[in-house]
Amino acid sequence: MAAITKDQEYIDNHGGYCPYCLSKNITKNGNPSIGGGSIKIPKRCLTCDYEWRDHYVLIGYEETKV
Ligand SMILES: [Zn+2]
Repeated sequence: MAAITKDQEYIDNHGGYCPYCLSKNITKNGNPSIGGGSIKIPKRCLTCDYEWRDHYVLIGYEETKV
């Protein structure tokens, strides 16, 4: 398994582009996997065909029904 790349610019831009060719022509590439306090969302670039997964971590919760 590949190491997680912590590209601050990518994180600051909320992952809105391909980390390989910087194209914004990207799409989800399957279902997210949820578990262990993190969510991984598979993405694919429609310009260069690069595939990666965005990693999200739990930062808290909010009430949705009292
Ligand atoms: Zn790309």
